[in-house]
Amino acid sequence: MITVRDLNWQYAPLADGGRPANSLKHVSFDIKSGSFVGIIGPTGAGKSTLCMALAGIIPNLADGTMSGLVEVNGMNTSRHSVSALSERVGYVQQDPESQLFCASVEDEIAFPLENRGFAPDIIDRQIDIMLDLVGMTGYRKRVPTSLSGGQMQRVAIAAALAAEPDVLVLDEPTAALDPEGKQEVFDVLERIRQTRSMTVIMAEQDTEHIAHWADQVLFMVNGEVVRNSDASLFTRER
Ligand code: ADP
Ligand code: ADP
Repeated sequence: MITVRDLNWQYAPLADGGRPANSLKHVSFDIKSGSFVGIIGPTGAGKSTLCMALAGIIPNLADGTMSGLVEVNGMNTSRHSVSALSERVGYVQQDPESQLFCASVEDEIAFPLENRGFAPDIIDRQIDIMLDLVGMTGYRKRVPTSLSGGQMQRVAIAAALAAEPDVLVLDEPTAALDPEGKQEVFDVLERIRQTRSMTVIMAEQDTEHIAHWADQVLFMVNGEVVRNSDASLFTRER
């Protein structure tokens, strides 16, 4: 269960001293555990900022002013570090390359587990499980940056899920991908739906796809959630 109540966020003053407009304004919604939730809206609407708030990057790692509440499965994001929150929330960004920093695919997945002190044999097993989940078995030793965009995003998803969080937040994960890479990412999310019980929240420009994919859609404009539907207002054939 995710609860957001009257969330407001203003980024820190600009270099010229001007105050940016509030990027999130009076945002309130609930998400039931196990839902697939789409966040849609035009560029600049606040989708990325909301994703960062759900992952705790806002307010913990960003300069600005926040008011309101964000609670993810009982954890108030303002009261926990991003690393503590990362046990509950996996986070995948738009740019596939900037979030991969290890020398090999297996290190990328091992890293969050080593940080938490998991035993080597458990880590080894988890790498296999995660690579199977994202369809990347056989890529363990590859250099992440040598992969295609779709493959890199799948490794990023594997790393985000390595510690088995309850919630996965993806910020326009396909925006930088070609149609093939985009399909690969959507296929992985479908596989997650079928094989795991977790909440998935995705900001996405492709509203057509979201209408078919999501149980709930948050439509953002200018920092506000102007519509929160269970997607029944959209045509869908699922
Ligand atoms: P979206 O993901 O929907 O494109 P964003 O969350 O990136 O929207 O941006 C929401 C608003 O916040 C925009 O007006 C954007 O210019 C502003 N914004 C985003 N990041 C920053 C930042 N680091 N500093 C100041 N303003 C920002
Ligand atoms: P997106 O649309 O995917 O959210 P943007 O192009 O809005 O991406 O933002 C790209 C980067 O620039 C982000 O790191 C965001 O925080 C930053 N950014 C966006 N708008 C502003 C702004 N007005 N001032 C400072 N940084 C910004």
